[in-house]
Amino acid sequence: MFTMIENDDLQHISSVLTDWYKKNKRDLPWRNIHDPYRIWISEIILQQTRVAQGYDYYLKFTQQFPDVQSLANAPEDEVLKCWQGLGYYSRARNLQAAAKRIMAQHNGKFPSNYDDILALKGIGEYTAAAISSFAFKQPYAVVDGNVFRFLSRYFGIDSPIDSGAGKKQFAKLAGLLLDKLQPDLHNQAIMEFGALQCTPTGPDCMNCPLETSCFAKEQGKISDLPVKEKKTRVTHRFFHHLVFICGEETLLSKRSDKDIWQNLYEFPLYESTKLCSFEEILMEKNWISEIAGLHPIHISYQSKEIKHILSHQIIHAVFYVVNTESTALQLPHFTPVKIEHLNKYPISRLTEKFLKKFSENLSCSKNKYIFTAN
Ligand code: SF4
Repeated sequence: MFTMIENDDLQHISSVLTDWYKKNKRDLPWRNIHDPYRIWISEIILQQTRVAQGYDYYLKFTQQFPDVQSLANAPEDEVLKCWQGLGYYSRARNLQAAAKRIMAQHNGKFPSNYDDILALKGIGEYTAAAISSFAFKQPYAVVDGNVFRFLSRYFGIDSPIDSGAGKKQFAKLAGLLLDKLQPDLHNQAIMEFGALQCTPTGPDCMNCPLETSCFAKEQGKISDLPVKEKKTRVTHRFFHHLVFICGEETLLSKRSDKDIWQNLYEFPLYESTKLCSFEEILMEKNWISEIAGLHPIHISYQSKEIKHILSHQIIHAVFYVVNTESTALQLPHFTPVKIEHLNKYPISRLTEKFLKKFSENLSCSKNKYIFTAN
């Protein structure tokens, strides 16, 4: 397992990585730039998102919000709408909060000091190191999932990467390995190496320039490293959404709790510990008082259960299309919205999926929408 390594060895490994990088790197729009704003946006998008998915979002986001000022001044709904479908929406909210702070405390100029960068909302040690090194060539080593994997396999480190002690050990080693004369190139190289060569499953060891000195390869421990301490606990949640149709309007509400999809819009939600029938939902006392004003109502459609999988949660959702002959939709906590304007609101991927089917089966005549299920 991991023992002390000579400086010369570390320098050799770093130069092998950077040589490999020059030959194998992907051409990506956030590479070879030094604009901290764009590097920041790319790094936040790429947290929990694959490059293939993040690519178009990066282009769209930086086109709509080309600098700190435009992001800070935009309405939050616009920022969330631009982020729609990417998930982990706190990233978008934090980006905007940080942009506002840069406007207020740094006169709109992205800070170049590591501690100032780290103090911005949504920026942790990894992102601060990435921005500091890529934009300002400062000697901070990045440690992301790709770096953990490569370091643990190559050096044979079995400390859990999600433990405090493990994180410290990896950060120290990454700092020792860092080429301080070209930290930007070194950091890009080690991350790209983990992403393309030393992949989670099926790493390309046969063509690896470090194969002969790799601990995991030699010991047959590739699938054992890196080690994680905690298992992800998944919770199941049961969502029932009521999609009211009243003439040209429906109802939306904004998710305000500290929960998934905060500040996104959704159809009125009843959440319970299991899936319920529509009658059971109506029995709920909170709902009786709220929808009493909408009688008479009838359901014109009930979706099948839709399973929506997030990293720590599985949402089991059912959508009910509910027609009401009330003259106006006015319920406390809900916003009446013209059905034709629904696409202007930031919504979750789950609601987006349902809306697609909903729109395909909707017709409008004399200012009245009718949903015909098939
Ligand atoms: S030999 Fe295989 S496991 Fe070792 S660093 Fe190279 S790709 Fe990764």
